Amino acid sequence: MSKMASDYGAINLSQGFPDFPVPDALVDLVRKHMIEGHNQYAPMPGLIDLREQIAEKVFRLYQRKIDPDTEITITAGATEALHASISAIVHPGDEVIVLEPAYDSYIPSIKLNGGVVIPVALHPGDFSVNWDVVKEKVNNRTRMIMINTPHNPTGSIFSAQDLEQLAEITRNTNIVVLSDEVYEHIVFDGERHQSVLRHEELLQRSVAVFSFGKTFHATGWKVGYCIAPEILSTEIRKVHQYLQFSVHTPTQFALAEYMNGLKSYQYLTDFYQQKRDLFLKLTENSPFKALPAKGTYFQLFSYQEFSSMPDRKLAEHLTQKSKLASIPISVFYHDQTDNHYLRFCFAKGDETLVRAAEILCNL
Ligand code: PMP
Repeated sequence: MSKMASDYGAINLSQGFPDFPVPDALVDLVRKHMIEGHNQYAPMPGLIDLREQIAEKVFRLYQRKIDPDTEITITAGATEALHASISAIVHPGDEVIVLEPAYDSYIPSIKLNGGVVIPVALHPGDFSVNWDVVKEKVNNRTRMIMINTPHNPTGSIFSAQDLEQLAEITRNTNIVVLSDEVYEHIVFDGERHQSVLRHEELLQRSVAVFSFGKTFHATGWKVGYCIAPEILSTEIRKVHQYLQFSVHTPTQFALAEYMNGLKSYQYLTDFYQQKRDLFLKLTENSPFKALPAKGTYFQLFSYQEFSSMPDRKLAEHLTQKSKLASIPISVFYHDQTDNHYLRFCFAKGDETLVRAAEILCNL
């Protein structure tokens, strides 16, 4: 959709990337570390200074002590962390429960490793998890359950109750929870992010995945990390070693220094909540119906009431004719379930959101 947006000169609210600059101080630090000569391979699991900063942040946010030496691995973005985790844990014939709509890298990664995808649809509308259905799908071949909160593409979030249910379902099993938490700082309306790291029991069987791309407006830097108990981290690192080996060194130095003592991510909640509220207000008179977005920088709209056009077709039509690009939600389902929803990324300057909303209101 980004390519189509560019080909047709459309406003691009499709792909999830911010159009705000990376903080100057962080860019200056990358430059500084390059000039200082930090340009050779970093250690395989990541720079220890950065892993220590992450451990401190996890303690601050989730009151959990993580061993930076054995439990944190720096990866080439969350995508590599997800793929390395799946490769390390899922073997041919193993079943992996995936909640759909699902971020697009999950299913290909499971299949590449010979895993069997067991999709469970989230409830259309509020995108809550039906844990009874998840429970029914669990058997002795289930190796992994993948979760994502705050959730891309729907903007829904887990409650503490969701974590409880997950803990109950996985109790006394060998199931690993792979928890994609790249939007951990983008949770609205006073809610709090329910990280698996908060949960004493789930923590023991989970890999939690994060991305600096989302936190510092630097999706193109592709630096992320995963946190898992030593026994899992050891296996994940065996894959990471040959998939990537190590991650861009000056960026790791810069991130470590930038994070030091600074609560440099805390403004994100208010920042994105203002964007969400602005976009909702600007689009309230459009024929689209906004679905509740509790987190992430995506807003879902339903067009059930005014068109029966397939969502892919409408997304293409909007891009080509109205010059506004979005993402059809059916692409996030293995069977292209189409509930007539489009996703718009509001991580954009206010002027861009105003122009996009005008297009939606004038449809
Ligand atoms: N998981 C989710 C839910 C995402 O939205 C994204 C990025 N769009 C990723 C993982 C990948 O993150 P990264 O760019 O750090 O690989």
